[in-house]
Amino acid sequence: MEKVTIGNLSRMIQSEADAYEYLETLRWPGGEVVCPHCGVVGKHYFLNPTNGISRTTTRGSESQRRVWKCKDCRKQFSATTGTVFHGSRVPLQTWLFVFFEMCSNKNGIAAREIARKYGVAPKTAWFMTQRIREAMANDDSGKLSGNIVMDETYIGGKPENWHKNDPRRSKTGNNTARKMAAIALISEETGEIRTKAVTNVTGTVIQVMVRENVNTGETVLHSDSAPLYRTIAKELKAHHVVNHHAGQYVTELSNGTNKAENFFSQLKRSIDGTHHCISQIHLQRYLTEFAFRHSTHNLSDTERMVRLMGQVQGVRLTYRPLTA
Ligand SMILES: [Zn+2]
Repeated sequence: MEKVTIGNLSRMIQSEADAYEYLETLRWPGGEVVCPHCGVVGKHYFLNPTNGISRTTTRGSESQRRVWKCKDCRKQFSATTGTVFHGSRVPLQTWLFVFFEMCSNKNGIAAREIARKYGVAPKTAWFMTQRIREAMANDDSGKLSGNIVMDETYIGGKPENWHKNDPRRSKTGNNTARKMAAIALISEETGEIRTKAVTNVTGTVIQVMVRENVNTGETVLHSDSAPLYRTIAKELKAHHVVNHHAGQYVTELSNGTNKAENFFSQLKRSIDGTHHCISQIHLQRYLTEFAFRHSTHNLSDTERMVRLMGQVQGVRLTYRPLTA
């Protein structure tokens, strides 16, 4: 696999048609074109550009979008059909560059940076990042087992930037009391991570999160000594505790919760430095983004991009549910 950098990506993709061809190689490796409408694999007709470069669309505009026609269901499709790119007016070229930036930058890329760099409207840039995060969430790698580190943290956000109807605003005017919390489960063996944004951390929340994300009978949980973990501990193979209050961070049985703390501190630095204030509604999506990069830390940027391209299908996020 050729190593992708932003430099050779821009040499590879110099036109909209190039971008479609590149996406085709990722979506249909080996050249086996699959109709996204009916699933038929086979020699679908490629609709050649009428003037060699572009085709005239039914609306009369010129498009370099590479279009295929299914020999079975007779519908037209392209490599973007049924994916996060579908129906977007942003050129596929731009999408691919932003995709790569979100896969390769340790802290992601802020929407305003995308707007500045790629000349799209700020609102569009923000929408693109959210769609890409949805693709990152479209992961079916299943439950974790083995040694799992678990920790939780509270994430602020400046109360003065909260919307007037933000549920965090308390009626009494005491805004510092209501922060949002993030929980993380990290596999010691693989670095795979599962995260969840919640308003409050309780024993029940922890219990549900663990049950949803690990094979309880095959899991050894490592956490601090908070009583929150006592309920779920009974269902697990073992539970090892480090007592932070006693200045204990590692024991004979446990490497402690360092891995989770490092994950949270990088997330918080990025929220402060790159994304400034984020709303509670979107914390989960940021967690997903950071978890995706963390879970795939053994992959190269190129492999990570290819893996994410495998998750673009079946994810369509329209503007409405994002802002609801
Ligand atoms: Zn078809």
